[in-house]
Amino acid sequence: MSDWRAERARVLAEAKCLVVKIGSAVITGSQGLQHEIISSLARQMAAVRAMGQGRRLLVVSSAAVAAGRAVLAAHGIAADTAGLAARQAAAAIGQGRLMRAWDDAFAATDLAAAQVLLTQDDFRVRQRLLNARNTFTEILSWGAVPVINENDTVSTEGLKFGDNDRLASLLVTLVGADVLINITSSPGVYDRPPAEGVQARVLSCIEDAAALDLDSMCGGKTTVGTGGMYSKLLSARRAAQRGIPTLILPGREKDILLRAFAGEDVGTWVRPSEKAIPTRKFWMAYTDAPVGRVLVDDGAAEALQKRGKSLLPGGILEVEGSFEKGDLVRIVHKGASLGVGVSNYTAEDIRRIKGLKRIEVAAILGNAHYPEVIHRDNMLLDAAI
Ligand code: GLU
Repeated sequence: MSDWRAERARVLAEAKCLVVKIGSAVITGSQGLQHEIISSLARQMAAVRAMGQGRRLLVVSSAAVAAGRAVLAAHGIAADTAGLAARQAAAAIGQGRLMRAWDDAFAATDLAAAQVLLTQDDFRVRQRLLNARNTFTEILSWGAVPVINENDTVSTEGLKFGDNDRLASLLVTLVGADVLINITSSPGVYDRPPAEGVQARVLSCIEDAAALDLDSMCGGKTTVGTGGMYSKLLSARRAAQRGIPTLILPGREKDILLRAFAGEDVGTWVRPSEKAIPTRKFWMAYTDAPVGRVLVDDGAAEALQKRGKSLLPGGILEVEGSFEKGDLVRIVHKGASLGVGVSNYTAEDIRRIKGLKRIEVAAILGNAHYPEVIHRDNMLLDAAI
């Protein structure tokens, strides 16, 4: 095991491209946006950007909904923003304020900011993905700073990133960032939920994000944003799978970015996995939500996890949901998710061939059928969903 401190120092010193994600709870208070905090973060980001020659920096900023809520309150409108439509409407009101705040804050450091609003669909459709990447390349080549948020007003329930931690983890792959910095309202990642009474400790480093038991570590959520530490760790796991480390930092502490880049041991460093998964598998697993589940037996679980095999009809016990060929499904063993994969069959056909041997399957579907229900190449085990 190599020295993570040396790794952290090296990555922060050498990163050519950084994605900095900032949570709603960091930059809003009871009165809405906190401009002094936004200014301070912009100043620090500008300084960090200037530390590396030609260094590129992208910001993912939440808080459109929270800012919108505050504007409504200032107009004496007591809006209940629990429902999806109300959240989307509040985001429409708040996004302009949020962007103005970042624009002003970066202007004070002599940098131009560029608003980019994305939906999950932009990552699913190849042409839109290419467009988005080309646009980022152009913005960054001008030395401007993209400030990205989910396009909340047009995102539909099933096709939402859900939270910006997820958006940020897809973005690091899209732009080829070297590190994801996740600025949160918490001091870092605790080893247990802080409310449990036993003294919780901030972890300085997480060696293997995939090995964490997220349910026992993350009891609660912050109330202002949507993610909580759970989604930050899932996000870090996704980045780690691509070989990209994440630094989770306490955004309410003074000069936190500058201190982290000066080498102070603050926040939590999540190490990248040594063997990065291919981009194709990453997009396959994370741009669609799984629409069904296949439950597999012990033999199949072992073949997938230990022997690098594909999933065959014989190892399938049950199918849940209804899906088409080419849909993403979850692979489940004894109630635990093993990963996700693209199905070669409809749910209906799998019901007809589950548990059967190849020759028996041929008797039902004819000889020209796929031997695998999910081919190894179209499968991601340990998917962080
Ligand atoms: N896009 C939402 C907003 O700007 C926030 C999502 C999140 O909290 O991660 O308010």
